[in-house]
Amino acid sequence: MSEPLGHPSVPPQTLAALGGAQSGTEVKARSSTKGPAGRRSLVFKLTLLVGLTLAVLVATIVVANGLFWQSVLRKTVDNHLSAMAVSRRDTLRAQMAQLQQRVELNTDRGELRGYLSSLSNGTDTNASKNRDTAQQTLSLMVKSKPVIGVMVADTTGHVVLTTNASMMGRDVSTYASYQAGLDNPYFGVPQLGKDGHNVAMISAPIRAREDPHHIHGVLLVTNDITALEDAFRDRTGLGETGEAILGMSDGKQIRYLIPPRNSPPATGTSADSVPALKAATENRESLVKGVDQRGIAVIAAGCPLGYSNWGLVIKMDTKEAYLPILHVVQLEVLSGAVVIGLGLIAAYFLARSFTHPVRQLTRAASRVTEGDYETMVPVKSADEFGTLSTNFNEMTTAIRARRMERDRAEEALRHADRRKDEFLAMLGHELRNPLSAIANAVRLWNVAGDDHSAVELAHGVIERQTDNLSRLVDDLLDVARITEGKIELRKRPVDVNESIHRVVEALRPAIDQQRHELQLLLENDAKIWVDADPTRVEQIISNLLTNAIKYTRKGGEIRIEARREGHEAVISVNDTGIGIAPRMLPQIFDLFTQGDHSLDRPTGGLGIGLSLCRRLVELHGGTITAFSEGVGRGSTFTVHLPTISAPESTMLPETTAQPVPPGRQRRIMLVDDNQDTVHSLARLLTLRGHVVATAFDGVAALKLAQEFQPDFLLLDLGLPGLDGYELARRLRAQGFIRTPIVAISGYAQEGDRIRSREAGFNYHFAKPVDFEALAELIVEDPITGE
Ligand code: ADP
Repeated sequence: MSEPLGHPSVPPQTLAALGGAQSGTEVKARSSTKGPAGRRSLVFKLTLLVGLTLAVLVATIVVANGLFWQSVLRKTVDNHLSAMAVSRRDTLRAQMAQLQQRVELNTDRGELRGYLSSLSNGTDTNASKNRDTAQQTLSLMVKSKPVIGVMVADTTGHVVLTTNASMMGRDVSTYASYQAGLDNPYFGVPQLGKDGHNVAMISAPIRAREDPHHIHGVLLVTNDITALEDAFRDRTGLGETGEAILGMSDGKQIRYLIPPRNSPPATGTSADSVPALKAATENRESLVKGVDQRGIAVIAAGCPLGYSNWGLVIKMDTKEAYLPILHVVQLEVLSGAVVIGLGLIAAYFLARSFTHPVRQLTRAASRVTEGDYETMVPVKSADEFGTLSTNFNEMTTAIRARRMERDRAEEALRHADRRKDEFLAMLGHELRNPLSAIANAVRLWNVAGDDHSAVELAHGVIERQTDNLSRLVDDLLDVARITEGKIELRKRPVDVNESIHRVVEALRPAIDQQRHELQLLLENDAKIWVDADPTRVEQIISNLLTNAIKYTRKGGEIRIEARREGHEAVISVNDTGIGIAPRMLPQIFDLFTQGDHSLDRPTGGLGIGLSLCRRLVELHGGTITAFSEGVGRGSTFTVHLPTISAPESTMLPETTAQPVPPGRQRRIMLVDDNQDTVHSLARLLTLRGHVVATAFDGVAALKLAQEFQPDFLLLDLGLPGLDGYELARRLRAQGFIRTPIVAISGYAQEGDRIRSREAGFNYHFAKPVDFEALAELIVEDPITGE
């Protein structure tokens, strides 16, 4: 029965499965949004990317720049040192020249020249006087700084005048100063004086005035060269570790004339160990990078002094000399780091600005996963992110719509399922009532004996209750048929008023039993014609009237009205009954809808009557509405059907069963395994004047057919042994080719009908059989056409 009802039930497990699938999706979706690392990684990655790019770029710039500046600065430093060496040399030379010049000037003094010439002549009587004068000159000379001692030696190399008495008469011919001073002014090698100061002897020839080639002697002036030395050692531009060194070399060994501060004035230092000085003493300018005697890396710029083989060196620790390079590199690295740092911060914020919409989408996706379909992602830009957000919002809206649709469908399914369960319970209840009444009636019949009134009572009960049951089953099958669109309307012109009369007549006993007062408001003598299936029109009116009777307390009023309104027939059934709650009204025509759900309610019903009414009305192209002012205030059901003009002639159906006229009597074979059915139906047919033979199974039926030679066959389908289908086939094979065969079965779906037709049946009647229709068919059968 579940199929014809047309409302598929949804088993709880199906709903659970639906829910299960849903929750499964949620779990999956939720797990995919997990992981804060995943959320941050995009910022991290973008920052890292920009950071790395920047780092590589900056590192390249720093290294290239560093290398460039390093070479530039190295050169600058190197040049600076060389320039310093040259500058020191020039200063030194100028000072030496100045000192030398003063000595030269003094050689031009006449006193000295006079004294020396008088000595050489040995004739001058004024020798002692000249000597005094010359001695005074020397005394004057020694008074001017930085002179600390003056000697005059004659051409034999003996000291003839001196400010130092101990030197008087000494032979200085071996002195380099003397020897050199015989020819040219000569700046002697500085020596450490007695008072710890460096002193240098400057010598110059005392020439004859009239003949410069004639040498009278040599003036030897010992100078304190501290001032010169100090000037030479001036630290300007030398930093902490810078040195100005003056030295000379004899080719193999170095002798410091103004030695390095940090090492004792050494003699005998290997020339190779001070290559810059060596080169300078060899009259070459050089720049040497190496390790000095302290084992420290140094840069030394050497240049020849231009005097004798003296060399001058400006030396500096590499570390200090190149410190600016280090500073530049440090500065570059620092600024590079700052640039990278700033770049990373910028990249971070840039990446955040990129990932911000992504984060918003992620959060929105989580919300959607959690079932929030309301919150939308703000669309802030018209770029790809904006498009993505818009699409996401559209997707969310679509999901929300679908979800709502699904929720509604689920709710509808649940509702249908509930109603199905209620219906089954109700059906059981509704079937049990007539069945128990019938059972009681049968029992009464058994014990009634000759008590006619008891038999009649039992008879009446059985008849009414089987009618009830038939109607119930008819209604159910009708619903199924309508749902599947398989109901066939046998339309013909029908007078609505007459249909109402017939229904009222049929239901009169029930109306009377309830002591209702029925009012019929029909247009006098006017017929209202509709093109309809009369049975169905009566079914509609009957359902409405039955409800009015059922849902109105005893002694109520029922009013049936029929009138024509334009091209419509309007039939309304109004009662003063229990009414309908407003919330029920919209769904009153739905299948299985019932106002009172308690099983022990006084009135029966399955909640299909009104649904059937609406479907039948709609099949006829009409409408049906319900109206009630509320509970306890009565109800009105109104049907509108399209009218037709009056037919030219009308055939009124037979209302009373009459025995068939002679010549229309049939030899009917009735086969059913239900003996009650067989006996009652056989009896009814016999009463109509037919000859009936009965069998209770297929095999017996085959045999009987041969003997009885029926001209009409009524066969049950569900027979023991040989079923109805097979029996029909065999009967056809036995020669009953044109004999009408009618299937009588509890199965009356379209599929059952097709199957019976295929097996050779001509007609198909559902149990319980509509006897009048069957009786009519037997007489009128168009197949035999008699
Ligand atoms: P059933 O009568 O078998 O329950 P119906 O489809 O005929 O099924 O009616 C559906 C429901 O509509 C009923 O259960 C009842 O609550 C309500 N109803 C129908 N007719 C009336 C009426 N005349 N007065 C009050 N309620 C009615």
